[in-house]
Amino acid sequence: MMEREQTERRGKIWLAGAGPGDASLLTVKTRQLLDAADVVVYDALISAEILSQIPREKKLINVGKRSGNHPVPQPEINEILVEEAKKGKKVLRLKGGDPFVFGRGGEEIERLLQEGIPFEVVPGVTSACAVPAYAGIPITHRDYTSSFHVITGHARKGETADIPYKELVKINGTLVFLMGMTALPSICKGLLEAGMAADMPAAVLERGTTAKQRRVVSTLAGLPEAAKKACVRTPAVIIVGKVCALEKEFHWAEDRPLGGRQILLTRPKQNISKLAGNLRKLGAQVIELPSIETRPIEPNPVLNGALERFGKRAKEEWLVFTSPIGVQVLFEQLKEMKKDMRDLIGIPMKNGVEIKIAAIGKSTAAELENHSLSADLIPDVYCAAQLGRELAKAAAADSAVTIVRAAKGSKELIPPLEKVGIMVEDIPLYVTEYQIHEELHEKLAGMFADREIDAVTFTSASTVQGFVKAVHGVEFENITAVCIGEQTAREAEKYGMDIVVSERASMDSMTEKIVELFAAV
Ligand code: SAH
Repeated sequence: MMEREQTERRGKIWLAGAGPGDASLLTVKTRQLLDAADVVVYDALISAEILSQIPREKKLINVGKRSGNHPVPQPEINEILVEEAKKGKKVLRLKGGDPFVFGRGGEEIERLLQEGIPFEVVPGVTSACAVPAYAGIPITHRDYTSSFHVITGHARKGETADIPYKELVKINGTLVFLMGMTALPSICKGLLEAGMAADMPAAVLERGTTAKQRRVVSTLAGLPEAAKKACVRTPAVIIVGKVCALEKEFHWAEDRPLGGRQILLTRPKQNISKLAGNLRKLGAQVIELPSIETRPIEPNPVLNGALERFGKRAKEEWLVFTSPIGVQVLFEQLKEMKKDMRDLIGIPMKNGVEIKIAAIGKSTAAELENHSLSADLIPDVYCAAQLGRELAKAAAADSAVTIVRAAKGSKELIPPLEKVGIMVEDIPLYVTEYQIHEELHEKLAGMFADREIDAVTFTSASTVQGFVKAVHGVEFENITAVCIGEQTAREAEKYGMDIVVSERASMDSMTEKIVELFAAV
């Protein structure tokens, strides 16, 4: 007990590896820590895909960059960790790859020990192995090599990297150099001078495991020139050894249906995961932008009034839903109000009133089914105007319609109904709010500027509005927008985006559309 109290007061540090970039390579333990930590202290190598998975309420400290793009010096990082732990915080120190593979994790631990701050180390998937693996290069292969060696190409200030070339050549294993891009010409020269064959296969692997990974494969003698020609950017690993030649047959990552594609999802936070899962399975890198959160309007006197009147105004009464969340919120509100289904539907029906239900699309209808209600009307096309038109035809002339949906729902639903003299009440149930980490903002703006996001998905007009408000300095004309329906597409079009519309209003149909879009390229 004593010990626990002390830990709580002092906080604790988890020194964890985030892997080389692909968020699916986060370990289960690190994934859990993203949720459990109070503070996340992270490096420049942490990808936007991973940042997008950190809950909004966490404190984020970026030590990969200070003003002018320089990283925070190591002693200062150590002090940040000590300071946060002393406040009693659970601190996740998140590093690229594995924390002990050239990650200066050891130095951080020495400082924590001085202060008696408890810590745990969570190993990560190191780029030294994972980046070659994603490039189709097995780091060892019985026919070619029996060892591998991971070497830093980075020298301490004012010194040149002290690499034992002779020994490395003699041992005849696969060589992997991290932080070696600046020193690439001298590394190749060193190995050649130590007697390695000039035609030894060698490669530079840029931004491995991400959608934008590239590889330049050459010979040891030709590699510096080939890398220069290809304008290789960091981070990149250099790999030297016979196994590099296997990539011609073993490549796989780009060959997946959505390999090499980076897709940004904007969805209400509550149900972002199905589409993300679909796309990841097909090889895409997925950034989940929780741009919208729905918040029920509470108290809601307008809803109270409408529910009082519902079932008492006409011989035929329609209840209309335009989103699954609308269904969920209505049932939560009914529970809050201690309303029974018999009050809402049973009693009017007993009095000879016909109660009918309309849903804008299949997912809304499926959510209704979860509450034991089946929709009488679902339009063929997922779109508010079409729902209005079909409802105007299906409803009796003197019927009444109650629409329960988001505040500021589409205006196009109502005119077709009013035109045929149907009484309409439009009831706002929830509002949508926008939220995004400032840190992620910056990364995204850069990625859009570099045209690294291949498509953005939108599942309602309000997700478009949310996205447009949430990102700054983005040229919307350069965006390919994959939209769930006409109405969403029209909203995206307003900003000049390139539009693609899914056939049906489902996540599977969105996925199919995205595959189709990139298969054609
Ligand atoms: N701890 C990290 C390495 C930190 S040193 C790990 O275990 O992976 C930083 C170097 O790692 C970079 O200079 C680069 O050589 C390599 N690196 C990290 N991520 C990479 C990636 N996605 N693609 C290519 N190289 C990467």
